[in-house]
Amino acid sequence: MNVPFMDLGVQYRSLKSEIDQAIEQTIRTNGFVGGPAVTEFEEAFAAFCEIENCAAVGNGTDAITLSLRALGIGPGDEVITVPNTFIATSEAIVLVGAKPVFIDVDPDTLLMDPKKLEIAINKRTKAIVPVHLFGQACDMDAILAIAQSYDLKVVEDTAQAHGARWKGRRVGTFGDLGCFSFYPGKNLGAFGDAGAVVGRDENLVGAIRRLANHGRDTKYEHDIIGTNSRMDGMQARILSAKLPRLDSWNAARRQVAKRYLENLIGVDDVLPTKINSKCDPVWHLFTCRLNRRDELREHLSLQGISTGIHYPLPLHLQPAHQDLGLGEGAFPVAENAARELISLPMFPEMPLEAVDFVCDKIREFAAS
Ligand SMILES: *Cc1c(COP(=O)(O)O)cnc(C)c1O
Repeated sequence: MNVPFMDLGVQYRSLKSEIDQAIEQTIRTNGFVGGPAVTEFEEAFAAFCEIENCAAVGNGTDAITLSLRALGIGPGDEVITVPNTFIATSEAIVLVGAKPVFIDVDPDTLLMDPKKLEIAINKRTKAIVPVHLFGQACDMDAILAIAQSYDLKVVEDTAQAHGARWKGRRVGTFGDLGCFSFYPGKNLGAFGDAGAVVGRDENLVGAIRRLANHGRDTKYEHDIIGTNSRMDGMQARILSAKLPRLDSWNAARRQVAKRYLENLIGVDDVLPTKINSKCDPVWHLFTCRLNRRDELREHLSLQGISTGIHYPLPLHLQPAHQDLGLGEGAFPVAENAARELISLPMFPEMPLEAVDFVCDKIREFAAS
């Protein structure tokens, strides 16, 4: 049996007429960049997040970068985040001229460990960027409590967790701003690059919309130096067509995860990443850890099963971050995760028989 890591084709076929119509409408109305289709999506996505405001931007990296800029974070400032995430998170911090300060993650959930926050805070610290990795929610109670007591901004990296909840509330709505990516493989994916920022403060979200559109409110009046990071009309229309399905796709991912968890109970040495009981995850990825990770990957690959590694090299060990002067051993939990973690196939339309097949092959490997 061939089991892909994800399958964007099945999702397209299930909505083909709506998507084709969205593309056709874009061309017919010349609504290529910005415009009413983008405003409509902003309103729909804010409603989905159960928050007041949303600014559509060009991608998830810009969502974080522009959020930090709008909050006035720049040269001389420090921003705390985690080393086990996609580089966009720390890249955004560097792009505004600030310094990324990494803290290690919780050994059970592999998410930001709030117990390690205070020691990293000094007078230059301006913000915290928690990452809701794998579709799981960070411990927002503890993170917000510390942010409040030190007067720090919180920008949530929600690129992998559209729709996830922490104690009943959507992630991305706890901090000052919540940043989303609609890269095609995310839980809500465009047909190209796209992103968004949500927030309660209308002026702050408005500032992001202005920054993303050359710092202007009217056509040729530019109040500040911004950039070009607008959402395409076609992406907005496609995202609006997909958005009403997102909750049901996330529910389908939950069924897949449940089946994995049932099947993997008692499989020696293969440990699914733990979930905080206050979190209602959306399973962007399904991850497990084991010692012989690379051997298992090879074994599954020979059976036609595709897997991933998120991520093979923690950010503090990336060549791009060598100027931070952090070496091997700085963040042992994240470094171990990079060696031991495997991401199994996960997408809403994945047949449960395929989950059983993957688990049979894992059990076979574990017994060998
Ligand atoms: C995908 C991703 C991003 C960046 O989003 P882009 O739209 O690709 O720029 C940022 N953070 C995390 C955790 C991601 O997974």
